[in-house]
Amino acid sequence: MTDDRTAIVTGGGAGIGRAIAHHLARQGADVVIADLDGARAEEAAAGIAAEGGRARAHAVDITDEAAVAALVEAAGPIGRLVNNAGIFDVKPFDALTDDDFRRMYEVNLVAMVRLCRLAAPRMAPGGSIVNIASRAMLGAKQYIHYATSKAAVAGFTRSLALELAPRGITVNAVAPGVIETDMLRARSDTDLGALRAMQPGGTLGTPEDIAAAVAFLGAPEARFITGQVLLVDGGRSLG
Ligand code: NAD
Repeated sequence: MTDDRTAIVTGGGAGIGRAIAHHLARQGADVVIADLDGARAEEAAAGIAAEGGRARAHAVDITDEAAVAALVEAAGPIGRLVNNAGIFDVKPFDALTDDDFRRMYEVNLVAMVRLCRLAAPRMAPGGSIVNIASRAMLGAKQYIHYATSKAAVAGFTRSLALELAPRGITVNAVAPGVIETDMLRARSDTDLGALRAMQPGGTLGTPEDIAAAVAFLGAPEARFITGQVLLVDGGRSLG
């Protein structure tokens, strides 16, 4: 499968986003790696170039409206948008402040909504948006602010799909289960062995598992799939 359109991947400097950027570049995309951490974005772009792919690094805080407008301008015509950047932290409900909620929603939801609004007018029919939600959208304790922000991402995805369908743009989401990345390794509330034991197949997911699902949902072959939220969690949500 080849797809040589321009693809913006937010949070593409690390973890799942970096795997998505590599996957799309291997399929022929010109990837814009948009990340708060400019050095990691440059490193990811260099890795793609070393494989013979096309990638541009763009240092951006997705919560900064002017910086996001500049990102969209620099990207040119956009074929795919992957809203992957997100933050996570663990805090019991009783300790959560309004500001904890606001910060989580600002990065995980509001910035995504704004980027979609700025990017969609630059997408021709056949364009696609894939948002990264989380299995936590089903409900999770100890990080209600994160879980509810991801539930909102799922709801936003379904509604935006209806808004953009007349323009020939699909909007879907992938909801990862437990994936081994820095975000996971930084968690203080659990250990990897215990997480593996909770998986039906005994293994955690990899960033590449998520990248494959994102690539499919945003591909021209998936043009009749829109408004869907695909759980990619090794069956964890089933039992
Ligand atoms: P990560 O922390 O390894 O990488 C996130 C990247 O996003 C980093 O490069 C970071 O610099 C960037 N970023 C953060 N805030 C940003 C901002 N304001 N502007 C621009 N870039 C910003 O995380 P990850 O594990 O790869 O997670 C990627 C996505 O997948 C997130 O939306 C996360 O919520 C979701 N997710 C992860 C898991 C998991 O187990 N790792 C599970 C479910 C969902």
